[in-house]
Amino acid sequence: MDIITVVGSGVMGKGIAYTSAISGFKVFLNDINETVLEKAKQDIYGLLEGSCQKGFISAEQLATAKENLVFETNLESAAKDADLVIEAVLEKIDLKIEIFKKLDAICRPDTILATNTSTMSPTEIGAQTARPDKVIAMHFFNPVHKMKLIELIRGLETSDETVRIVKEISEKLNKETVEVNEFPGFVTSRMNCLIGNEAMNMLMEGVASAEDIDKAIKLGLNHPMGPLELADLVGLDTRLRNMEYLYQTLGEKYRPSPILLKYVKAGRLGKKSGSGFYHYS
Ligand code: NAD
Repeated sequence: MDIITVVGSGVMGKGIAYTSAISGFKVFLNDINETVLEKAKQDIYGLLEGSCQKGFISAEQLATAKENLVFETNLESAAKDADLVIEAVLEKIDLKIEIFKKLDAICRPDTILATNTSTMSPTEIGAQTARPDKVIAMHFFNPVHKMKLIELIRGLETSDETVRIVKEISEKLNKETVEVNEFPGFVTSRMNCLIGNEAMNMLMEGVASAEDIDKAIKLGLNHPMGPLELADLVGLDTRLRNMEYLYQTLGEKYRPSPILLKYVKAGRLGKKSGSGFYHYS
């Protein structure tokens, strides 16, 4: 197992590609948008060089990682030789299904197809392919190179062999795994979305400022990040899609906060757009 293709080069895709490349895998990073893919390349190179200067990776690892990375807008060229494909496109079920159908036609029959969905059903996605036994969710966390966990979610038909191989790859990526039964939002997104949404409602109700809500949760509850700064890091558009899916599947408790809807409508998408609950230079 040595070729990983990552589909989608946004916040998560570029992080997964970087982590896979420094772990010795040959990596094809694909995006439909050439400008986004070029930006991902610059960001990954910047991260690689910064990590080398700080001594986190050796000069040899830096050179090998650069050699191992291929940036490719054509999905067929990017995925035809892959042993594992990790999809990290927008959190939209129709888009994910469309991509899995294409990958099913492009990839070798033994290729494992994984989705980095935060909330959605690998069973539903896998059922649209001829290889539901080789479809699984690998839920990475942001920023990928720093966060230790991958949540593994099997679909109804996912085989033990697929789980075994994906666990082995996760270890090579220097990650810990948990195996979670399929349910909307798994363990982490179900919990995290609720905390974030409550923080947004509190902000809207004037309970405290964004800074003080985050400070209270960090210093009072010992979370490493506040829920509002975390939502900004995730991307408010992505968080809204997560909330909408959880609201649809789990009900009222997950109704997206009106302030989240308002910010997304205004184009305030968090760190990636320069402003969200905070402003970024
Ligand atoms: P993003 O919006 O930053 O990136 C999505 C990328 O997909 C964009 O670059 C877009 O151009 C690309 N794309 C769209 N259609 C495509 C296609 N047909 N082919 C190839 N590329 C295409 O989103 P993100 O935050 O990286 O989230 C991606 C996935 O990861 C979502 O399912 C999200 O729920 C999940 N996730 C996100 C986070 C997070 O913190 N942002 C954490 C864990 C999981």
